[in-house]
Amino acid sequence: MTITAAVLLLAFAALFYFQAYTLKQHSAHELAVIGELTAHECAAAVRFKDEDAATQILTGLRTMPQIVSARLELLDKQRLAFFGSAREEGEVEAARVTSGFKFTGDRILLAQPVTLSGVREGTLYLLADLHATSSQLLKLYGGIFGLVLLACLLLAFALSGQFLRFVTDPILRLADTARTVADRSDYSVRATKVCNDEVGLLTDAFNQMLAQIQAQDSAVRKAEEKYRLIFENAIEGMFQSTPDGKYLNVNAAFARMYGYDSPAEIISQVSDIAQTTYVDSARREEFKRLIDTHGVVELFEYEAYRKDGTKMWLCENARAVRDVTGAILYYEGTVQDVTERKRVEEVERASKAKTEFLSRVSHELRTPLNAILGFGQLLDRQGPTETQRPRIRHILSAGKHLLGLINEVLDISRIEAGKLHLSVEPVAVADTLEEALDLMRPLAAERKIELRAEVEMDAAVYVMADRQRFKQVLLNLLTNAVKYTPESGQVAVSYYSNGDNNIRITVSDTGPGIPAEKLGRLFMPFERLGAEQSNVEGTGLGLALSQRLMHAMGGAIGVESSAPRGSKFWVELPRTESPLPKAVPYKKNGSGRREDSKVVTRKVLYIEDNLSNLTLIEEMFAERPQIELLTAMQGKVGLDLARQHSLDLILLDLHLPDLDGHEVLRQLKSLDTTREVPVVVISADATASQIDRLMKAGAMAYLTKPLDVVEFFRVVDTTTATGRTSTVQMHSPAVLAINEN
Ligand code: ADP
Repeated sequence: MTITAAVLLLAFAALFYFQAYTLKQHSAHELAVIGELTAHECAAAVRFKDEDAATQILTGLRTMPQIVSARLELLDKQRLAFFGSAREEGEVEAARVTSGFKFTGDRILLAQPVTLSGVREGTLYLLADLHATSSQLLKLYGGIFGLVLLACLLLAFALSGQFLRFVTDPILRLADTARTVADRSDYSVRATKVCNDEVGLLTDAFNQMLAQIQAQDSAVRKAEEKYRLIFENAIEGMFQSTPDGKYLNVNAAFARMYGYDSPAEIISQVSDIAQTTYVDSARREEFKRLIDTHGVVELFEYEAYRKDGTKMWLCENARAVRDVTGAILYYEGTVQDVTERKRVEEVERASKAKTEFLSRVSHELRTPLNAILGFGQLLDRQGPTETQRPRIRHILSAGKHLLGLINEVLDISRIEAGKLHLSVEPVAVADTLEEALDLMRPLAAERKIELRAEVEMDAAVYVMADRQRFKQVLLNLLTNAVKYTPESGQVAVSYYSNGDNNIRITVSDTGPGIPAEKLGRLFMPFERLGAEQSNVEGTGLGLALSQRLMHAMGGAIGVESSAPRGSKFWVELPRTESPLPKAVPYKKNGSGRREDSKVVTRKVLYIEDNLSNLTLIEEMFAERPQIELLTAMQGKVGLDLARQHSLDLILLDLHLPDLDGHEVLRQLKSLDTTREVPVVVISADATASQIDRLMKAGAMAYLTKPLDVVEFFRVVDTTTATGRTSTVQMHSPAVLAINEN
């Protein structure tokens, strides 16, 4: 409005000055005409110096309001007529103009020569004052300006009303919308578009911006919701805690883990994490030290108290969140309850320790037993005197009893530790039964017990079992039947399919049977059910071991017995198809003794650091004069001998002072000169994993100490006689593994 007024004022001022100028020009022109006419009229009066006529003519000029003074003078400047004031006359005289105009402010002085007949007679001066006219003009213009300004103001006011309606209102509404959005953080609000001008475009742009913010806001909210749900429903415990030991935020899983009803409860109740939750507060210090130094802590394990005081093991991953200055604001991370894993680890550690203990016990007990039984057997074979014979038999019987005890205790321990390695595969029932019966025949004959199979052996019947362990169970049942049945009794085996796709094998005898009240304790370790009073030897471990073996193979064992009618033990295993191509069926070969009619010179190397074991084998080989025995007490020496001699067999102990037996075997199998020489491992370590490892490494057989002399010679004779390829039957638990190549 002010600008408008100023512009208007400028315009009016310019117009006014133009008008004033025009007025001045016009007045000058008018004055010139009047001056000329008056000068002409006065010419005669001037010639004749007629003052009255001149004064009358000049007085006539008074009718013109702008002419304030007039003077008529002669050529000698003598005044002839005048009107006006003295001041004005002085003004005319001071101007010194002889002809033409002189402008001074609002005044115009005209000097008009007075001539008559072309001769100048005097000068007429006219002084006009335009002040009054200018003032009138000014007033006129001022009035017009005022009116125009007023009209402009009214127009501007009227227009501004319109402007408010069309421009300001939408902008104010836009501002209102923006305020609503800001106040409520509600981005779904939209501004109403009222016109299609610039304000309309602004409204569209504003709404578009709101739509984008709304979309982003909704995406952010969804992401927040997602992370909130993850946080709240995570299985892992999540937390934020301060360095001084307070929880800032935890999720439900975290609270549950600690036994609190809600996150709020644990946050409010725990004010010092180190004291309240850490079993060992030094671990909290360690945690803080690690996170302060590295910024993160991974897989940090510690024991913590639950709300009810019980303990648990936690595994934590955390990081430090710092401010711009690097100061730690809080820690945040996740925790997992690893109590169960810790327990399993503890059990595994204990189990490993137990296995190592068993392995050591096995080794330590077998080594001296090897000497006892080995030399005992040698003495027995070298024709002892009548007095010595029963003593030697006592030594052997006690040694074998001890060996059986060790084997069974170790087997049971291994099963219970889950360390018994079974190789479950299709096994022919008839073959296995025949083998077991063959092995039992000498004992049965000794006790005058009739041993028979009650069914036709069908070579096509197979069960899923570990062959050796299955035979071990059968031998145990047969041994018991023969042991506990009085002389001239009968022991029979049979098998049939029991309809559940299982094969049930029974061993029945005509012995005293087992009283019903004792049946419940039958499979308990060291339970001999009164047999310890009798002269029947036993450990009370056979059935306990058999039961565990059957269960480990997925089978079952039981007994139908009612004293005094004899016992009927049974085992059941899942039936399976005959594998194709079938394994070479077992062919009975009598006692299995070697037919060594021909004497052949052979070379055998024995690598062993224990002197008594060396001596034992040397003495045993005295029975085989056709075999030359080379010995080495160190692995490297043994390897040298093996390279230098053409050997038929290598007997290898595992515990050597320089090289490990495994390494010796590996080198033997990697050298061209020794690769084909059969290696029989002789070790006190009877653990399945050990045997398995060595058999896989290329050992031909694995004999365990104490050696069974008969079995030892069987393996040696078969190997040396058949030129390194043989099928060796297992006649004793001392021969734990044979590679049939
Ligand atoms: P043992 O070494 O004493 O034979 P077992 O575990 O094999 O140990 O057997 C446990 C007990 O069960 C035996 O001591 C014996 O009393 C009884 N027993 C086992 N088999 C028979 C059987 N065929 N006839 C009678 N009693 C038996």
